[in-house]
Amino acid sequence: MVINRLQNLPASLLLLPIKKTKNLNKKDVNMSDSLSAQQLLRIRSKLETVVNDQAGSRQADSAAAALQRMRSGEYGYCVECGEEISAARLAAKPDVALCVDCQALKDEEEDA
Ligand SMILES: [Zn+2]
Repeated sequence: MVINRLQNLPASLLLLPIKKTKNLNKKDVNMSDSLSAQQLLRIRSKLETVVNDQAGSRQADSAAAALQRMRSGEYGYCVECGEEISAARLAAKPDVALCVDCQALKDEEEDA
């Protein structure tokens, strides 16, 4: 019986899986491979600061769009191709909306 076996396990073993099975909604699961919840919170407050301090600027527009994507659960994914954007890239440039590949393509177009 599974239930009996669980009850017989030492308490220390039962405590181990809690972190993994804790109530994660789908968005959090999607995020787990890239940004930690803590990183995400830091990025969000950064974006909010830009929106507030630089209202009307291009940076603020870009940050507001990133916050919008965060609310809709699309944050961290390329708006062009849907690929996951690396955590390092997001940390360096929190309002980034494109993956490295799509950004390179766009830069080429703009240079042309
Ligand atoms: Zn892309």
